[in-house]
This record gives sequence, C-alpha cells and structure tokens, in this order.
Amino acid sequence: MSQFWSPAVRELTPYVPGEQPREKLIKLNTNENPYPPAPGVEAVLREYPVDHLRRYPDPQSLALRQALAREYEVEVEQVFVGNGSDEVLALAFQAFFCHDRPLEMPEITYSFYPVYCKLYGIERRALPLDREWRVDLDAFTAGSGGAIFANPNAPTAHGHPREAIATLLERLTGQVVLVDEAYVDFGGESAVPLVERYPNLLVTGTFSKSRSLAGLRLGYAIGSRELIEGLERVKDSFNSYPIDSLAGALGIASLEDHEHFDACRERVITTRERTVRRLAELGFEVLPSQANFVLARHPGHDAAQLFVGLRERGILVRHFNTDALRDFLRISIGTDDEMDSLIEAFELLCR
Ligand code: PMP
Repeated sequence: MSQFWSPAVRELTPYVPGEQPREKLIKLNTNENPYPPAPGVEAVLREYPVDHLRRYPDPQSLALRQALAREYEVEVEQVFVGNGSDEVLALAFQAFFCHDRPLEMPEITYSFYPVYCKLYGIERRALPLDREWRVDLDAFTAGSGGAIFANPNAPTAHGHPREAIATLLERLTGQVVLVDEAYVDFGGESAVPLVERYPNLLVTGTFSKSRSLAGLRLGYAIGSRELIEGLERVKDSFNSYPIDSLAGALGIASLEDHEHFDACRERVITTRERTVRRLAELGFEVLPSQANFVLARHPGHDAAQLFVGLRERGILVRHFNTDALRDFLRISIGTDDEMDSLIEAFELLCR
C-alpha cells in the first residue's frame, strides 16, 4: 500500500492472469490455441521491411479495420481495433459505463470486468446464473447503466444463440449492451449481424484464441458508428496509435486465410468433444461448452488437489479460488496428444 496511490488503486484487487510458466509444461490454463497461426502470418513476419518500424503507425489502423470490415460484412466506420480485447474492453468501460446507475453483469463471468469497474469507479450489479450455469439473459434490467457478458461465457463455456441476444436487445434499448465474443469461433453464434438493427450493441472479439495470436495483442469491437466514435474519443486521449504496424500486417494476413482458420477451429472442437466424453467416463461433470475450454468438477475429488496432482505431472490447468468455482477446474483444449496426457493423469489421480 502506498500513500501515492489513488483511492481506486488502493482498493483495487488486480486481475491475475493464468501463469505463464518457464518450464516446459502441458499448458492448458489460459485458453491459448495449440495450433500455429496461419502460414501467411509467418511469411509477413519474414518479409516485413524493418524500415517501416522507424515511423509511427497509421493512427486510424485503416488497413486492419478494412480487413475486419470485409470479414464481418460491416462498414469500416463500424470497426474499432486495440491491443488485445482487454484494451478494447477498458476503453468501452470508460466510454459507455460511467453512469450513476450500475453496470449489470453475470455473477460469474470474465473476472476482468469487476476490475475495470473498481478502477473506473463504476457501480456493478452482479446477476446470478441460471440453474444450468448459463448467463440468465432475463435477469438484465432495462434502465441500468449498461450490460456486459461474455458469449460464450467464461469460464462456464455456454453460449446463447443470436436469437436470444436479439430478444435481450429488444428489451434493453436505452443502454449499451456489450457482448464479449472472445470464444465465439469454437461453436458459438456471433451477434455481429445484429449491430445494424441495434445501435446500442457492441461486440468485442480477439485474435488471441481462434487465430492463435495471443502474443500479438490484437482485439476489436464492432458496433454502430455512434459507439465506435465513442471508443475513438477515449482512444485519442489514451493511445492515439493503437496498433503497431507489424501487428496490423500480421493480423491482416491471419484474416486472409479462411482455410487455416476453419481447419484449426474444427480440430479444437473435435478434440473438445472427445475430451468431454472421456472426462465424463472418469466421473467428471462437464458443463456443455461452445468454447476452447471446459469447466469440469469431480464429485469424489477436491479440485485444488487435482490441480496440484496435475501440476506435479507437468500439466497446468486453471483453478479459481472463489466460492462459486472452487469445485471446478477450467481446462483449455490442447492437441489430442496433450489431452491424452491429461486423461492419463486423471486416470491415476481419480482412482
Ligand atoms: N474476454 C474474455 C472472456 C477472455 O477470456 C479474454 C482472455 N483472457 C479476453 C477477453 C481478453 O483477450 P485478449 O486481450 O487476449 O484479446
């Protein structure tokens, strides 16, 4: 604690990301993609003219935004980019949620959202999940200071279909509804086609998961011109050159390769389904997943002990030490070989 910190920083419990170990472990703890980025990304990396790094990047990040606009069939003015979706989310909190009314979010969701609330002095109202561990869309109220949730949700992995989001948007017309689609490409349904109809809808996405580019820090938001302009206002006062030129070029190369993108996500989905079956055979309860991770608990075994047992066998998963999630492990989907090692370790630990 320091006398120099602001009251908000003094009270802040910072977000703690999953461990990035130095030793070689089977790493299933931060929902990275086990497959490499598109081959075109490597080609750009090899050929990129180093002299370009001498100059500041395009403040509008136009080329990358155009590529995203093509991908999502929206206008370039409806696209915003930032250094990872975490930065885009931080800007959205500042641009849209600092009201005298509370921002509503599920009680269990991406744990960064409460951190931003604390940091920016935003009041938060946590809404319980339904009995099936799904985000309860009916619980959001009209007239709040905004709504935010991940779809599929993290770490519970369930995703609502687009129609359900449209029903919610019909009810919540006076506040921004932010749908965080970090995991949508692994079997979820994107709400982006709804942005034309609902000017209060902002959808965020990332290159970190389905595009295997977590190290690059590239994220984006898609919404009405009105919302994108709001983000730009905050950005200009915060980081007026959001995307470095090399990251922009690599992101474009990734967007151009649809074949690689589809093949990787299908492999992850197939491995996920296989893993779910095998975990169930071992007695785990696995929540239905449309993401590149699963949330699972074993009625006969303590999750914290399983976490330690896996770690001793060189496998890293995520255990959240909160009341609601203490019984669960969150397991990212790796390669088939990695998941075989996980199952073998569980076979020994859960005997
Ligand atoms: N949203 C959710 C739900 C996440 O789990 C993550 C990754 N931890 C992010 C956003 C941020 O991803 P990135 O900053 O890598 O784009």
